[in-house]
Amino acid sequence: MLDGITDVSRSGACAPRRLLDAQGRHIQYLRLSLTDRCNFRCSYCSVSNYEDGDRILSRAEIRRVVAAFAGLGVRRVRLTGGEPTLRREVVEIAADIRATPGIEEVALTTNGHRLRELSVRLRDAGVLALNVSLDTLDAATLVRVSGRGARLHEVLDGIDAAAAAGFGSLKLNTVVMAGVNDGELGDLVRHAWARGATPRFIELMPFGDGVPVPTGEVKCKLAAQGVALVPDMKRGWGPAHYMRGAGGYVGFIGAITENFCESCNRARITADGGFQACLGGSERLNLRDLVRAGASDEALAEGVSAALGRKAPRHHMDEEGARLVTLPMMGIGG
Ligand code: SAM
Ligand code: SF4
Repeated sequence: MLDGITDVSRSGACAPRRLLDAQGRHIQYLRLSLTDRCNFRCSYCSVSNYEDGDRILSRAEIRRVVAAFAGLGVRRVRLTGGEPTLRREVVEIAADIRATPGIEEVALTTNGHRLRELSVRLRDAGVLALNVSLDTLDAATLVRVSGRGARLHEVLDGIDAAAAAGFGSLKLNTVVMAGVNDGELGDLVRHAWARGATPRFIELMPFGDGVPVPTGEVKCKLAAQGVALVPDMKRGWGPAHYMRGAGGYVGFIGAITENFCESCNRARITADGGFQACLGGSERLNLRDLVRAGASDEALAEGVSAALGRKAPRHHMDEEGARLVTLPMMGIGG
């Protein structure tokens, strides 16, 4: 029976254990929020003002939790937030995770504002894949979308610094909003390609304000804005599908219109140690309290396994009233 814990029957008693959810989906990818804080206030992202302090997992607790997940077959960890670069120890935490036996890849998602100073240090700490959010190339639009703390020149300088540092992968993620940034999609693609980065367009999920543009329409707009694309088989770790054009790839994440739950291979940990099996779900297991109560690795694994065993087959964010039941994006890190 698949109860969400280790699948010894499939892998053999001496082989590494695998973490399966209730639907048999193999969980290899962990998104870990380093802080709930953010210096931006994106209109589509629920804002939280929680201070870090004792409430969140310490660096040592993160090491412990990541090691437990690695022991269960997790191979890739993405650091997110809030804004992960606001965490003072972000570089050290990235290095700790990279050094964890079993972890093959450390990735980070950021709003880019600190990348000018951090890019080289993050790369040297072992961060292989970097995603930077870039919704617009217009300074006033950025302030309108992300608040007064968002300064376009800092983000663009940060992206240039990341491109120069040379990460294994550099992606620029755009949440597409009707009437806000859907007129500059072609320019965003050209900006990314010129820096050796891959632009990706994400459908707006119902966590805050804004009118979504379905992926199908985004493709039509790109064609109209001078970006000709052909289908391609390229896939990454996540739910994006890719098309190819003159300057490289373009990714699309149809979070709503292309439900990707069937192939979901990820789980999430909030900054305060809440283990969340599904982005659209509401159930959390408090790993921080378990760790602080002295739980053994086995007890941690059992708790995670039980939570995964209850993971629903799919999210329901595409249904009417979804905004009312979903959790804040800042707390779960996307
Ligand atoms: N602060 C970092 C950043 O913005 O890249 C990391 C955390 S942010 C929550 C992670 C990702 O979630 C970003 O790419 C952001 O654009 C995306 N995101 C936030 N709210 C969203 C929404 N309502 N719909 C789609 N994507 C969203
Ligand atoms: Fe901050 Fe990222 Fe949310 Fe924008 S999307 S408010 S940058 S956490």
